[in-house]
Amino acid sequence: MGSRYNVLSPKAHEIWQGNNYFFCYGRVMLGPRPCALPASLTLILGPFGTYVYFVLPQMSSNVIHLAIASSLCIIAVVSFLIASATDPGVVPRRSPLNVPSDTLDVDGVALRYCNTCQHFRPPRCKHCKFCNNCVMNFDHHCPFLGTCVGQRNYRSFVVFIGTTCVLSGYLMVLDIVLLCTFATKYSTGHNTWDDILHSLSMDIPATILAFFLIIVFFSVAHLFCYHLYLICVGQTTNEQIRKVFKGHANPNNLGCLGNFARTFCHPIPRSRLQPRELSTPIRDDLTRSVQSDIQITKESNDDLGDA
Ligand SMILES: [Zn+2]
Ligand SMILES: [Zn+2]
Repeated sequence: MGSRYNVLSPKAHEIWQGNNYFFCYGRVMLGPRPCALPASLTLILGPFGTYVYFVLPQMSSNVIHLAIASSLCIIAVVSFLIASATDPGVVPRRSPLNVPSDTLDVDGVALRYCNTCQHFRPPRCKHCKFCNNCVMNFDHHCPFLGTCVGQRNYRSFVVFIGTTCVLSGYLMVLDIVLLCTFATKYSTGHNTWDDILHSLSMDIPATILAFFLIIVFFSVAHLFCYHLYLICVGQTTNEQIRKVFKGHANPNNLGCLGNFARTFCHPIPRSRLQPRELSTPIRDDLTRSVQSDIQITKESNDDLGDA
């Protein structure tokens, strides 16, 4: 295979036609907004640091709370980084082809042709207008990750929002308990609202943190429950919003347990990208390209059957 390449050809990530950014010589692939990564990390680590610095020293059993909160924070950050820097399931582009038809029938399923990526899209594959790529099992384009959520990073995405939900809920409860302790300790016994306002003014960082965590917890809990529901019914966000299966059965639904097993236990398919390989000057012919699209579709169907 190597002998067919020109040694002077650039690496694939150097002439990438999508909107992704590559770092570390093609080893790390981020979405079209790499600045989302440090911004989102600040939103995770900022409240955690505020809690550790301002709230934790005022609590009893602070070593246990620190151990639990640190463990949750590490899991949240690692799953976030994996979801952000992983190929979400991009289907590699091809050189332009003159296809005779915009649709291709494979086992009774009509595949639509993507004029940008030059291939027939397998079922559940969608072209993301932000990343400018076709992504397998496209769920949505996440502004916090700065990239798509799809076949290869959906699991780490769900782990990330689940852990963030538990972490923000845990810190929120501890913070509110601390503020309630102030209210009880410094109660005048006359006016409850005055006692509450007085306790809030006792520790401004803890008060700001409590309001921030309440907003984060209920937002992320809502998102997490929504994705648990989507896994239960075997749909992606894109399919659910577009009501793709309204009025007919969803062929991707393996039952609630089967859907959870597929999401969390099934091996993640290997990336189809080779960003560190030399780019190929060889033009695909129509027959080989269509056969490749049929093969990808059958692999996608096999994934469903094996789960
Ligand atoms: Zn496409
Ligand atoms: Zn995208």
